[in-house]
Amino acid sequence: MRHVAIVGSGPAGYYTAETLQKADDIAVDVIDRLPVPYGLIRTGVAPDHQSIKAVSRRYEGTALADNVRFVGHVSVGTDVSIDELIELYDAVVLATGAPNDRPLDIPGAELPGVIGSAAFVGWYNGHPDFADLNPPLGAAGVAVIGNGNVALDVARILAKTAQEFTGSDIVAHAREQLAGSAVRHIHILGRRGPHQIAMTPKELGELGHLERASPRVDPADLPPEGDDALLEPGMRKSVTHLRSFAANPVAKPVTIDFDFFAMPVAIEGEGHAQRIIVERTTLDAELRSHGTGETYAIDAGLVISCIGYQTPPIPGVPYEHGRGRFANDDGRILPGLYCVGWARRGPSGTIGTNKPDGARIAEMVLEDVGRGAGKAGRPGLDALLASRGVAPVTFADWRRIEAAEVAAALDGNPREKFVSVEAMLEAIGR
Ligand code: NAP
Repeated sequence: MRHVAIVGSGPAGYYTAETLQKADDIAVDVIDRLPVPYGLIRTGVAPDHQSIKAVSRRYEGTALADNVRFVGHVSVGTDVSIDELIELYDAVVLATGAPNDRPLDIPGAELPGVIGSAAFVGWYNGHPDFADLNPPLGAAGVAVIGNGNVALDVARILAKTAQEFTGSDIVAHAREQLAGSAVRHIHILGRRGPHQIAMTPKELGELGHLERASPRVDPADLPPEGDDALLEPGMRKSVTHLRSFAANPVAKPVTIDFDFFAMPVAIEGEGHAQRIIVERTTLDAELRSHGTGETYAIDAGLVISCIGYQTPPIPGVPYEHGRGRFANDDGRILPGLYCVGWARRGPSGTIGTNKPDGARIAEMVLEDVGRGAGKAGRPGLDALLASRGVAPVTFADWRRIEAAEVAAALDGNPREKFVSVEAMLEAIGR
């Protein structure tokens, strides 16, 4: 029998498990520090993107396989160490994602009212770590830094009306606070131009169909239309949306301005964020941005940086600080230790990118471990956890938590999530 532990129950973890569980004589444990599975699907993907979240049904299929087990509410580093897992299992695969924000390194970034997208997205998605965030929504202006899909998610959630959340699983505290929001002017700041965005067409197009908010693009920021021919088809579609926003400005009460060639240089305010200072940029031949010295201020009581994520380091596990991920050779970290998904490649690509990634790492693991080295595996972990008084949450437990969330849903919504670990455990009588 070969024993594999996967740390992290998000897309990368379950895609890896999906390939592994098809092998003979294998037992796969998917460990997560939360009592609930699915990682980024549950707490990263926007609550109004239910079609993307539906992929969790596929992970459920894997989780229910005889040779796969969910080991929830077990924290690697606290309840069990990496070294202990390596001792117990033939292979340990880190699928821990990239849940930490890359730091926004400008003066004023420490002011109250400046938050990272991991926190803000976690807040509206009910991640227990961020349920108490209470973002300040009392000022009209908000600055969203970054030109990726996360910036689009954040701007859209801030702009939507209460009715537009019907059918979503946005959590109650966010729904209620957003309903009373004073936000009217959202600025999405890109340090480069329309041809350098990292926004996909579907997500960008959504901004053109909001009930009370409309996107605005300054036509002067757009390169000559003929240059679009040089873009790959997806990017060309995205830029076409920007051109359409520029050509057809629609007056609505909430504005979403694309500030291109706009590099944040400082955040100012008396005791909390009140404005962001932005320097205009130009691009060099390598398309890198450089400040021109010309600055302007945008009123913003809330600044949300959406500038990418990092994998949290684990003591003793080699780490590549510049890229915010585990140091690895195509997925191999150390003998018996692997990484997959964002923990391997950094925070890029869609959910689907993790499918071939997980399959490849699984094949590599199967090849490396051969028939297994007679390790203790599952029973060994269970004994260790029991000796420490740690009682894991099982997949059957999770399904009871899920049933309670579904039962509590508002009309038209798929679920009302528990937003604290205590409430999740209470739902299963602990
Ligand atoms: P991202 O796509 O890497 O975008 C990060 C943005 O931040 C870039 O525009 C980057 O600009 C900018 N940036 C980085 N450092 C900056 C700084 N110091 N100052 C100003 N701007 C800075 O990251 P993301 O938006 O966090 O998304 C992560 C991944 O998840 C992506 O692959 C994304 O497509 C995916 N995602 C997908 C969906 C979806 O499909 N619906 C939703 C959310 C996220 P430069 O280009 O100039 O570096």
